[in-house]
Amino acid sequence: LPTVLIVGRPNVGKSALFNRLIRRREALVYNTPADHVTRDIREGLARLGDLRFRVLDSAGLETEATSGSILDRSAGMTANVLAKTHFLIFLIDVRTGVHPLDMEVGKWLRKHAPGINPIVAMNKSESLCDGTCTLAAAIDEAHMLGFGDPIAISAETGLGMTELYKALRPLLEDYMIQVLNDNCNQEKGSSQDASDETDESKLPLQLAIVGRPNVGKSTLLNTLLQEDRVMVGPEAGLTRDAVRAQFEFQGRTVYLVDTAGWLQRTKQEKGPASLSIMQSRKNLMRAHVVALVLDAEEIAKSSRSMTHAEVVIARRAVEEGRGLVVIVNKMDLLRGKQLNEKVREAVPLEIRTVIPQVVGFPVIFISALEGRGRIAVMREVINTYEKWCLRLSTARLNRWLRKVMSRHSWKDQAVQPKIKYFTQVKARPPTFVAFVSGKTRLSDPELRFLTKSLKEDFDLDGIPIRILQRSIL
Ligand code: GDP
Repeated sequence: LPTVLIVGRPNVGKSALFNRLIRRREALVYNTPADHVTRDIREGLARLGDLRFRVLDSAGLETEATSGSILDRSAGMTANVLAKTHFLIFLIDVRTGVHPLDMEVGKWLRKHAPGINPIVAMNKSESLCDGTCTLAAAIDEAHMLGFGDPIAISAETGLGMTELYKALRPLLEDYMIQVLNDNCNQEKGSSQDASDETDESKLPLQLAIVGRPNVGKSTLLNTLLQEDRVMVGPEAGLTRDAVRAQFEFQGRTVYLVDTAGWLQRTKQEKGPASLSIMQSRKNLMRAHVVALVLDAEEIAKSSRSMTHAEVVIARRAVEEGRGLVVIVNKMDLLRGKQLNEKVREAVPLEIRTVIPQVVGFPVIFISALEGRGRIAVMREVINTYEKWCLRLSTARLNRWLRKVMSRHSWKDQAVQPKIKYFTQVKARPPTFVAFVSGKTRLSDPELRFLTKSLKEDFDLDGIPIRILQRSIL
């Protein structure tokens, strides 16, 4: 992931912006020795629209505002943090205008991060309404810093987040494309047969089984392994540690990652349980396919198919680009055909509305306790995995593009010649780059249309796919 560092003199609102960007996710706090004092840097996973990046808050680095060389005093951080940083948000306070300390920070950035042009963000701009200063004057003044056009934001109220998104998006996308190209080149270099449609789906599959405590994850795991490898019991949260196991299914190797702890976090919960969440989150990232287990009995009792926590985990899996399979377990507990049918109908419908990002992922109904469902589960898991690994040749994609372009009645006719070229840069999950002409960019509806068409035409339903954009002249 690309890393964005928030810098600025004290009190401009760095932590507020950091908190807004990470929302309620956990921040990782680590110490960095600087100036013989240990100071904290916070690191978190930021989400801004569809952008994901790592964000670092340098607020802990300067404790005194008295010295002009606040940041220089943190020499230890210079090397450590800047080595990790790809992009910078330079925060100033719009109410005070450009402060001498801001000029110091600017000087410091030019010296220590000469290759990065910071995005200057004028924070607290909700105060512009109170008549103390005007936006035009503030923008003029911020140009003094010499980093180009500033954007006006308010970390407190969320004002200007669209502007920040627009400023960051092209930078992050270019970065992603660069990384993907590098990976591709490396992969091509290491494989003897660099044919366009390599079959990565023959590689071992990593499957994570996630869900709330007691939905039957361990029981399902045992069914899949066909032996009693994991302790199963009625107590919630019994399986603390992620268990790694391996089995063969129809000639294919599957690694199982049990992530029992994933949904145990509550606001009050601290200690061992939250540790197991951290662990399981890492496992989620290791997984190719995530199987989310729900409890049929709970569903029958409640008016909703998924609890908030379950929705969060499904969305997270999709956002992280994992394949998703939903398993409704304990179907044996549903008394009567009617109830059984009701659950079978309601669950897929409801899931479609709560996770609209990925339509068409499989929903399977099983009873792990009765040992039924192994084949049904594995068939869908493997099917999902194969789609997730799909690679389409550039020639095929561009033939497809021409067809799609003529099929769609683009609202804006100028759009049509906008995409010059379309290619897949990566599989697992399938990631594409649209090369667009000049400075034009595809709008969100256009991107949605392309995504939908790709899914329909190449049977990629249920798979999170990504389309990046790159400008060509
Ligand atoms: P985990 O916390 O998600 O790993 O859940 P477990 O696998 O430990 O199962 C919790 C309880 O539900 C145990 O008592 C299991 O025997 C029971 N259970 C699991 N799967 C089923 C099922 O398909 N049907 C029924 N009736 N009970 C099940």
